[in-house]
Formats: sequence, C-alpha cells, structure tokens
Amino acid sequence: MNTYNIALLPGDGIGEEVCMEAVKVLRRIEEKYAVEFKITGGLIGGAAWPEFGNHFPNETKALVEKSDAVLFGSVGGPVNAQFEPQWKDCEKNSILAIRKFIGASINLRPAPIFKELAHFCPLRSDIIGDESFEILVIRELSGGIYFGEHSRPDANTALDTSSYDRPTIEKIAKFSFQAAQNRNKTLHSIDKANVLETSRLWREVFETEAKNWPEVQFHNLYVDNAVQQLVKWPKQFDVIACPNLFGDIISDLTSVFPGSLGMLGSASFGSKIETGLQTETSDMRPVSKFIHLYEPSGGSAPDLEGKNVANPIAQIYSAAMMLRHSFEMHEAADSIEAAVLKTIQTGFRTGDIYAEGQDETKLSCSEMGDKICEYL
Ligand code: NAD
Repeated sequence: MNTYNIALLPGDGIGEEVCMEAVKVLRRIEEKYAVEFKITGGLIGGAAWPEFGNHFPNETKALVEKSDAVLFGSVGGPVNAQFEPQWKDCEKNSILAIRKFIGASINLRPAPIFKELAHFCPLRSDIIGDESFEILVIRELSGGIYFGEHSRPDANTALDTSSYDRPTIEKIAKFSFQAAQNRNKTLHSIDKANVLETSRLWREVFETEAKNWPEVQFHNLYVDNAVQQLVKWPKQFDVIACPNLFGDIISDLTSVFPGSLGMLGSASFGSKIETGLQTETSDMRPVSKFIHLYEPSGGSAPDLEGKNVANPIAQIYSAAMMLRHSFEMHEAADSIEAAVLKTIQTGFRTGDIYAEGQDETKLSCSEMGDKICEYL
C-alpha cells in the first residue's frame, strides 16, 4: 500500500470548513483504493499569528519539508481589518512565501464551465453554448517582469525589467504540450512577440517544442487578441500556456467563467528543493524532492466564515489535482471529478451556485462534501 504525507494548512476564514470536506473525500478515497494519507495539520496566515506572531512559522516550514504535498485553504482577514497586525501583509507573508519556499515554477488553474451553471457565467448563453467545457490556464511562475529589477532611478522615472531564460520556458513548454496531449490536443501559447524580446524567445522555444508533439494543434496568440478571443469564442480554447504576467491576468479572466470562486481549484508545482540530510546512510548526502501546493483560487471569504455555507468544491478539486499530479492517482482523481459532476447534474448546490425557482436542492458546505462522498 502506498502512503503519502500531506501537510494540511487550512489558514483563515472558510479555509478550515472547506478543508474538512476535502479530507472527508480523501478518507473515502482511502476506502476505495490501496492508499493511506497521513494528514498533518499546520498553522499559516492569520491563524498562525496568535501563537507565533508570524504568518509562516518555522514549525509550518518543517511540516511542509516533511510532506509529499501541501493542501492549502486560504489566508487573509476581513478586508476592513487589513491594517491590524494579525492581517497586515498576511497574504504576502504566507501564500507568496510558501510558493517561494517550495520554489513554485508552474501554476495550473482549470476553469470548468458547467452547462447546468451556465446562468452564473457572465458570458452570453449563445457564446458558451449548451455543452460543458473547461479551460486550463498554465502560468509560468518564476520569471518575467515580477522577478526583474524594480527601481526609481529618479523621482520622475520608474523601471521594471523582465527576463526569461531558455530552460525556464522549455520547462513550461514541455509541461503544456504534455497537458494538451493528455486532454483535447489543442494548445494556445500567449505572448507579445510583436513587441517584447522575452516573448520572441518564448515563441521560439514553444515552436521548437511543438515539433515533438505532432498530434497537438498548436497556436501562437498575442495577448491582446487572446483576451478578446476568450470573451468572444472561449470554446476554441482548452489548454493555454502563458508567461507570468499574462498568466496572472488571463487566469483571472477565466476564473469568472465558472460563475463562482468556489468552483476553482489550482496547483502550483514546486522545483526540486533540499529538505534535509540523508541520515539512513553514513555519507549524510542532501535529500531533495519536489513539493507541490494545491489550493482554491478564491480567498478566505470572511463574509461566509463559520456559517457552513461555503462551496467546498474548489478545495475538493484541489485535492483531486493533488492525487493526479503528486501521487499519480489518475483514476481516483477522475472519480472525484465525476462525483462533483454528478452532484451538479443532480441539482445539488451550495448558496453561491443556487438559483431560486429551479429544480435544485440547496446544501450546506458539509452536506455538499457528504453528497460528493456518497457519489464517489
Ligand atoms: P474572496 O475570494 O475571499 O471572496 C470574494 C467573493 O467570493 C466573496 O463574496 C466570497 O463570499 C466568495 N467566495 C470565495 N470563495 C468562496 C467559496 N468557496 N464558496 C462560496 N463563495 C466564495 O476575496 P476577498 O473578499 O477580496 O478577500 C478576502 C480575504 O481573502 C482578504 O484578506 C484577501 O487578502 C484574501 N485572499 C486570499 C487569497 C489566498 O489565500 N490565495 C486569495 C485572494 C484573497
């Protein structure tokens, strides 16, 4: 039997409630498959502040290093309390810090658009059509303008530099083609190669990689055209690969398509990091591994905290992504997604995706978790 160590970091707000439902689903997976999940909880964000006076304490870092994957809830306090010490810079000190800690290099944000929830999608019904579909945005996380030099050479001049190197782009190109090959065999790469030198290198690397994937229909698209196309004809897209800055914006655009933040899971893939020394042999070599992070795309939703009304699907999807990408448990991940789909198809809804007057049953957060487990 395989055993996996999971660091569970619920964080703040609805984090605890939705994480409980994801754990329920993982326990159900243990009953169905020969697998054991050793789930250890840790504190992060404002939840860590009272005990540690720190948003990402060393105890939590040690837990992450010992784990095979991290299942993260969300962090942050009420929007009107952002200047209180517990909440000030909370997101930056915890979520950005943990991404840096694992060396996060690629981010995955799938946006599922269910025909049953079409009325929550801000796009016109004739544009999204009557079939469900999903757009997967793959964003490079370690390069580009966010990691360049930022300065004010003088009071009236500001400078932000952007750079990309070939190995960084090759890594996301390979990953994106593989993802497209496994899905609908369509890949759009987004750049601004008519203006930016980094984009020209990006395009060059993607075009070279395309030769290794003859079955994948590959398209280059300028970012300005891409945002228009996404709104006018989203169904032409399946996998979209983006440099850091464009991915940040495009994944926020696609995140509104499902109709609620409660439907969006995400994954951030870590780089190989050293997590200690080999102690079983006498040579004490460093041990290194990849640790990936899985979390909903939304925030801590303080308006819903403690009410048992949040939608746990984003967290449950994130857990399914963890099974697929960290533990190679593809069938189990598929079965979770199928159970979510059946739950939606049979009319069960949390408040964020519930419409009065339809033939639907409104569920609490925990009832939604139970229903998904029942369908598993
Ligand atoms: P938010 O994402 O928490 O909430 C925005 C809206 O979406 C709210 O109406 C909320 O009720 C709803 N929503 C979010 N998740 C939901 C779910 N699972 N089910 C049902 N509805 C859901 O964004 P915000 O209100 O701007 O920020 C609240 C706090 O979250 C802030 O402190 C912010 O800094 C933090 N935040 C954290 C993350 C993160 O942890 N990755 C991301 C964004 C915001």
